[in-house]
Amino acid sequence: MIIGSIKNGMVIDHITAGRSTELYDLLGLEKAECEVALIRNAVSGKMGRKDIIKINGDFPVDINVIAYVDPKATINIIKDGVLVEKKALQTPQKLVNVVKCQNPRCITSTEQELDHVFVLTEPEAGVYRCIYCEAQAK
Ligand code: ZN
Repeated sequence: MIIGSIKNGMVIDHITAGRSTELYDLLGLEKAECEVALIRNAVSGKMGRKDIIKINGDFPVDINVIAYVDPKATINIIKDGVLVEKKALQTPQKLVNVVKCQNPRCITSTEQELDHVFVLTEPEAGVYRCIYCEAQAK
């Protein structure tokens, strides 16, 4: 049912309700030229409410971004209208150019060519820190 009209693309399902807009922004989906649907507060048996993002077309998605925003989300890859792959996510240990360091004194704010790199320092709390200045990602 959720696959619906998608021919070739991706459905990001089981997104925690309310997190789909953050995911949409971090994935850069405003730049997508293909059809993108963002469904908020869909009724889900398991979770109560969930968000869903459907991408009908070929758009490069960084799986680590999804895993960072919401490791409980699931990814369904659709080819020729058929579900060909279901991906479960794992919390990434390292994020490269997913989020930017907000510390104005961080070297990344002056050295523009540097990658923004964060590592998972406290797995239980889901805390990521900048490798240069140790500022927390969120
Ligand atoms: Zn930093």
